[in-house]
Amino acid sequence: ATTTQTEQQFIFRSKLPDIPIPTHLPLHSYCFQNLPLFHDRPCLIDAETATTLTYADVHLATRRISAGLHSIGIRKGDVIMLVLRNCPEFALAFLGASRCGAPITTANPFYTPAELAKQATATKTKLIITQSAYVEKFKEYVETNNGDVKIMCIDGSPEESQSQDTSVLHFSILTNSNENDEPQVNITPDDLVAIPFSSGTSGLPKGVMLTHSNLVTTVAQLVDGENPHQYTHSEDVLLCVLPMFHIYALNSILLCGIRAGAAVLIVQKFEITTLMELIEKYRVTVASLVPPIVLAVVKSGDAHRYDLSSIRGVISGAAPMGIELQEAVKARLPNATLGQGYGMTEAGPLAISLAFAKEPFKVKAGACGSVVRNAEMKIVDPDTGASLPHNRPGEICIRGTKVMKGYLNDPEATERTIDKEGWLHTGDIGYIDDDEELFIVDRLKELIKYKGYQVAPAELESLLIAHPNISEAAVVPMKDEVAGEVPVAFVIRSNGSDITEDEIKKYISKQVVFYKRINRVFFTESIPKAASGKILRKVLTARLNEGLVAN
Ligand code: AMP
Repeated sequence: ATTTQTEQQFIFRSKLPDIPIPTHLPLHSYCFQNLPLFHDRPCLIDAETATTLTYADVHLATRRISAGLHSIGIRKGDVIMLVLRNCPEFALAFLGASRCGAPITTANPFYTPAELAKQATATKTKLIITQSAYVEKFKEYVETNNGDVKIMCIDGSPEESQSQDTSVLHFSILTNSNENDEPQVNITPDDLVAIPFSSGTSGLPKGVMLTHSNLVTTVAQLVDGENPHQYTHSEDVLLCVLPMFHIYALNSILLCGIRAGAAVLIVQKFEITTLMELIEKYRVTVASLVPPIVLAVVKSGDAHRYDLSSIRGVISGAAPMGIELQEAVKARLPNATLGQGYGMTEAGPLAISLAFAKEPFKVKAGACGSVVRNAEMKIVDPDTGASLPHNRPGEICIRGTKVMKGYLNDPEATERTIDKEGWLHTGDIGYIDDDEELFIVDRLKELIKYKGYQVAPAELESLLIAHPNISEAAVVPMKDEVAGEVPVAFVIRSNGSDITEDEIKKYISKQVVFYKRINRVFFTESIPKAASGKILRKVLTARLNEGLVAN
């Protein structure tokens, strides 16, 4: 019987042949492997200051940063937290830390002090690199850790940082170090290089342990070898307006861009008119975006005033993109190829389509591409676990050296997500059609995606039930035209309480970043649950969709 089961496995692979991927190299060596070819070419362009760093500049800075980190006591395995808006220092610190073996955990600078402290505590962060605007947020965390944690600012003058508060270091300590003092660190492919946070298929946000070999793989899958996807090459100017703290920009824009020798245009803040000015000014060729930004570009009344003809590719990812929007992009940017990428923090890009007008790829509205090379994809029946053939929807699973090492300090969550055979279960429902194109049709997991940002229902539920006037709560996504989805709460008040929707919203918004704010509160007498106690979220979302909730 066992043999029959194995024979019946339906495994999908890329139409492109596998390529050798140098997973033995540390990420920074891999990214700069072609340095002699690109030496004087622009690498990072800061849109804010209109300054450009060449490949040689960036490489040298990362060596100095590695030496500097060592000089202030950072050792292999120590975690560094980056709490930065998009800026060149983000890239420099990330690659410098990679050189000295210190994994980076990335966080949204708009997080509240409580959200930041949770992540810093979970990762035992030793050094926080941030901007002066956010230093205050770490006051309590630093105090409770008795000087065991250092804070460093990338802005302000070095003198100011010293006089304001002697415990705040300045980034120039790193960039002014002598590159010849760089420590010799032995890095193995299985060592951690990044620990972004994700809630995965259930529960609270968790540290995702990404190794050097994981990220080398995810970058190589998009840019190495003969690749008709033409994701990026050295002539490109890549737009980086998505937040670098999220895996999409970190992996698929920054690291892919550097490996390919492209120029990465770093934009700190999304504002549609400025964005179009920048595209025109820097002749951006590839724009990796999320659906709400794509929507802003096509809807903008000003769009015709700018020359956007340099764009050869627009990629949308991180959340579903509707067919109407795809059509609108084609009309607005007729010279560009529109592609979709589907990925997740735990495994980087799973599927992508860019030059899908070219054989062997078909143009297919609504598809999010086909599985990347050097990986295996499987669609499984969520009830039986059986793998399914073409055109049958089921849970999307992926296997290969791209898959994370596991969740930090959470072996149970890791076991729930990566099975014994190494398959990562994504919690997304999709099918693969006869042309090997993947279509995502539903989400099995709890995750809510607001403009591509993660909102974990479990996190909001635990805050809600901590309120004395709330006895039970369930948070689910509600469809929203602009954000895609917004979190809404079903709440059972405690006996005798008359807490209002407004009070609950205010209570939550004080504790979380803007996109986790609760959009609506529906008071209810009961919350549907399975015998195991698990909230039946689908019943609640169905109630929302059918308009069965009282206001
Ligand atoms: P994150 O780890 O924040 O990148 O979130 C990953 C999740 O975002 C996936 O598991 C999907 O649920 C969703 N997602 C990412 N890309 C797409 C896409 N192109 N279409 C639909 N959903 C997507």
